[in-house]
Amino acid sequence: MFIIKHKDMETQARTGTLRLPHGDVSTPVFMPVGTNATVKALTNDDLYEIGFEIILSNTYHLYLRPGMDIIKTTSSGLHDFSGWRRNYLTDSGGFQIFSLSALRKISEEGVKFRSHIDGSEHLLSPEKVVDIQVILNSDIQMQLDVCTSYGTPYKKALQALHTNNGWLSRAKQRWLEQRSEGYAGEFFAITQGNFYKDLREISARAVIDASPSGIAIGGLSVGEPPELFAEYISFTAALLPYDKPRYVMGIGTPDYILLAIENGVDMFDCVLPTRLARNGQALTRYGPLSLKKQNYAFDTRPIDEKCGCKVCKNYSRAYMRHLFKSREILFSMLVSYHNLYFLHGMIKNARHAIEDNCFAKYKREFLKNYYEAGQE
Ligand SMILES: [Zn+2]
Repeated sequence: MFIIKHKDMETQARTGTLRLPHGDVSTPVFMPVGTNATVKALTNDDLYEIGFEIILSNTYHLYLRPGMDIIKTTSSGLHDFSGWRRNYLTDSGGFQIFSLSALRKISEEGVKFRSHIDGSEHLLSPEKVVDIQVILNSDIQMQLDVCTSYGTPYKKALQALHTNNGWLSRAKQRWLEQRSEGYAGEFFAITQGNFYKDLREISARAVIDASPSGIAIGGLSVGEPPELFAEYISFTAALLPYDKPRYVMGIGTPDYILLAIENGVDMFDCVLPTRLARNGQALTRYGPLSLKKQNYAFDTRPIDEKCGCKVCKNYSRAYMRHLFKSREILFSMLVSYHNLYFLHGMIKNARHAIEDNCFAKYKREFLKNYYEAGQE
């Protein structure tokens, strides 16, 4: 399901194609997040127009609301339910249980938690999470994993890893059963091991033994300093088989994405570009632009003069600032569109740079403009 097209000569960066049930996906790829089966403030047509071939949705949220009964009864899965005709990756809910729900309790069996919406109690096992993602008809589904935060002591991280490995083999087994009954989606495992290199190695071996369709590097971007992120992404990526797609969850800033690509990571997702948009920040070549600022009140230029998106073609910063100040819904729609267009363009250019064997130069120049040049 994964074909590597070209590897950059100087770095580990590579381009490829993921062959999935709802079409091919060019990698490296950034996947916008549609938590509730909608990328906030954007229509599916907007996302097709920008060129996205895959989006992410959150199992935890969909399981609690609307619930599997409604999805199962009213549709043949998430594509049918939401009208999105291209691919869906769904996460396993592990991270949301870890970060959102109260009173979670992890055992060998699974994870017990209370809903952050109504306090109701639930138990999710690795098998149940596979079955939920089959109901969602996910093109890529993730195993239920045990997340640990930055600063977790060694013994606790080791214990979490053991549980994670046990859950992985059970999830894989259930996925194989579902495949034999006609489910077409792929299955990704998640490596953990916190910030301990020997645990990262144990985890990578367990994941390789399970032979999933792809591998996510979990437990990164969980509050650690950037140097540690850089060290562990390169250490972990090097432990993984070359021919499987690699995915780092929850990274959305250009420096982290480009660093991940440099280390041979193929897939990313993050709420950041759309969340920033709703808070008044537009992404540009020269870094984020805060459209609420007084100095744009009379500015007739678009958000980014070099951007080819429909927002930059049609609207001025002065108008955008006015929309923000007036709390108009259109503001979120337009800036979310522009921000995703911007990030999609950054990744598309990264793919071209890899194919021209000049990714390191592209990364250097992009980051110099983004973090050092400053807004005019
Ligand atoms: Zn634009």
